[in-house]
Amino acid sequence: NRELQQEIELHRKTQLALEQLNHELDTRVQARTQELAQSEERFRRVVTSISDHVYAYTINLTTGDRTIEFLSPNLRDFVMFDTEKINELAYDWRENFVAPEDVEIYDQHTANLLAGRDSQVEYRLRRADGHRLWVRASVRTERLSATEIRCYGVMSNLTARKQLEQETATRQALQEIELLRSEWLGNMSHELRTPLGLIKTAATTLLAKDITIPPPMQQEILERLDQETDRLTDLVDTLLDLSRLEAARLRLNYAQTDVAAMLQELADTVLLQMRLGSLPPFQVTVTTETTPLYATLDRERMKRVVQNLLSNAMKFSPHHSPLTIDARIEDAHLVITVIDCGIGIDAADYEHIFERYYQVKQTGVNSQPGVGLGLPISREIVRAHGGEITVNSQRAGKHRKSGTTFIVRVPTAPTGVESAPF
Ligand code: ADP
Repeated sequence: NRELQQEIELHRKTQLALEQLNHELDTRVQARTQELAQSEERFRRVVTSISDHVYAYTINLTTGDRTIEFLSPNLRDFVMFDTEKINELAYDWRENFVAPEDVEIYDQHTANLLAGRDSQVEYRLRRADGHRLWVRASVRTERLSATEIRCYGVMSNLTARKQLEQETATRQALQEIELLRSEWLGNMSHELRTPLGLIKTAATTLLAKDITIPPPMQQEILERLDQETDRLTDLVDTLLDLSRLEAARLRLNYAQTDVAAMLQELADTVLLQMRLGSLPPFQVTVTTETTPLYATLDRERMKRVVQNLLSNAMKFSPHHSPLTIDARIEDAHLVITVIDCGIGIDAADYEHIFERYYQVKQTGVNSQPGVGLGLPISREIVRAHGGEITVNSQRAGKHRKSGTTFIVRVPTAPTGVESAPF
């Protein structure tokens, strides 16, 4: 009986201990659950309070399927889709959210992730309302198995920064144009002042009543007046052409032209000016395939083109050096070449020299200021003829001489296409 009582007592004690244990366990589970809930709440608060958006998904390398594991609630607001919809849409992020213009760069990013590499990409995201937002996605990868990769991503909104960058770039470009324009205005005023000053002095001298000017000197002053007026007229014509080109109103006066005679006339004027001392000395030669050499073009404007090239050649070549103007017909095109043995142009500057107001940073060897309009105007005139102007040049090197060749190539007769916009 005692034994039985002892057993009952043991049983009761065990039962009690068990109940106590159970109770303790219950309390601990409750406490843990509460802790877990608190920690989840903390995580949720962290995730929703940062401006960046976090997400996680697994890619199955065999099927290419994505399993979304987490999308921060902010991300849903960010792309403006409601909760159910975004989970569905996020499976094909590329199709649904990547702006078409950035698909290529986004694909590169995906390729990195599929190869198990961490990756970062900046692209334009297309929101539900069609609005574009600049974002940066930084993704870290974790290989789960041979066929599965998990990606942890952070997405930041770069729109404000990109806008700022864009505005800064535009402002800088405008400032540069402004600077070029004011520099150009300075040069232009100088170009206008020089002949004007000479004309004024010549006129004042001729008008002076108290001095008698001997006839040969009078003749010289008059010639000077004539030349300077021509220079001014040229400058004004160039400006006029420029404004017409800007307004796309330049009309070419096509006429059958003897190019050989036109070039010879130009060379004769230049040679005369050299003899009179108003231009520095050069050996100017004209070579043409035949004489006469016919083409249908705007004679005055084409002459101006060659004149511009020739005056540049003189500006950037040493005195007494040879300058050659050549003309020939090749494949129904008139090809005029102006060759000098001057300082040459770096290949990097080939395109720039045709830009308005551009001057290579150096003063001409003969230190004549320019206005940086000769080449752009010439190119426009040649293009209006349906042709092209190109340059080939060499700077002096150890074993080579410097020099520049400008090649003008225009159809021998208008083709009809070229006159369309003018
Ligand atoms: P400008 O001669 O008034 O400066 P252009 O448009 O005619 O303007 O020429 C632009 C620039 O191209 C020149 O400032 C010069 O630096 C370069 N250039 C043009 N022709 C030559 C040449 N024959 N040799 C060397 N540099 C040249």
